[in-house]
Amino acid sequence: MKMKKILLPEENENLKYYKANLHCHSVISDGKKTPEQLKKDYKANGYSVLAITDHEVFIPHNDLTDSNFLMLNGYEIEASGVGGKTCHLCFVALAPDNTSEVCFCKERIHGNSKSYIEKLNINKKEKMLIRKYTGRGINKLIKTGKKYGFFVTYNHPTWSLESYPQYIRYKNADAMEITNYGCAVCGYDDDNGHAYDDMLRNGEKLFCISTDDNHNIFPDSSPDCDSYGGYIMIASPSLKYEDITSALKNGMFYSSTGTYMHTGPEFREITLEKDELRIKTGDVRSIAYIPYSRDCKIVNARHGETINEAVFKIKKREKYFRIVITDLFGYKAYSNAFFPKEL
Ligand SMILES: [Zn+2]
Ligand SMILES: [Zn+2]
Repeated sequence: MKMKKILLPEENENLKYYKANLHCHSVISDGKKTPEQLKKDYKANGYSVLAITDHEVFIPHNDLTDSNFLMLNGYEIEASGVGGKTCHLCFVALAPDNTSEVCFCKERIHGNSKSYIEKLNINKKEKMLIRKYTGRGINKLIKTGKKYGFFVTYNHPTWSLESYPQYIRYKNADAMEITNYGCAVCGYDDDNGHAYDDMLRNGEKLFCISTDDNHNIFPDSSPDCDSYGGYIMIASPSLKYEDITSALKNGMFYSSTGTYMHTGPEFREITLEKDELRIKTGDVRSIAYIPYSRDCKIVNARHGETINEAVFKIKKREKYFRIVITDLFGYKAYSNAFFPKEL
């Protein structure tokens, strides 16, 4: 490792960070806002990208994309076991013309969504009559989603009552939800850093995302509103659909958390030169380095003050590391995991 490697690029004239929520529900399933209203509200709150991922029905929203706002197309599917345990996955299409629903399961479609069945473009070869809540059953869903050109995320382990024995079975998802604001605002401790480390320590190489999973039962100004608390910042040369999804596939993003009217902490750049890891951020209270081994490090600002940079020496054979930054209000942002051997 000789040269300086850019793990997370700095914003420049050819590369911008776009704010995105990849998990969201509308009136098409159990959400309270229309897709049009969701776009309007997310745009007004500083977002550039939104994936409406209604339960079990894949309805594309390309018609809502404009030059300043990109709609990604997706849906959320589930397989459930006993005792309330369930596994939810979001599929986000990597191309705008990929509108065919894989893993369609009629039995899982409920309520309002039934009226959309006629509109679905169902992939007949990859229908799934029964969903199996087993490692093999879930892995079949993940594999099928990826085979047909979707970015597959593993959602809200805490709300799903899934712990180590369950999520450790899941292989090759593109990302997992490190935070899910919709669950957190209901009281679930869906802050899943431990689950992310568990998966990484078991050899999975996946990214992490923060999402809203909003249903908007409460208005935006309510303290119980489930929008604008979990998002990712995607580094991309443009807002073009494929530019954004290739940035997703390449991990060119970080996750952050805030709340209505409060933007969360920001990463500015992460670089690695030999064994020297440098992290530049917005104003934060602390910058923590979390590796595979028992070698965590942190730089804390003096009480009430903030810092913008930290440098850590990393061990030569560290299998992975990730960075967590925290602002003065306690809101956190998370880098993806990096694997030094592969850099
Ligand atoms: Zn879910
Ligand atoms: Zn959801």
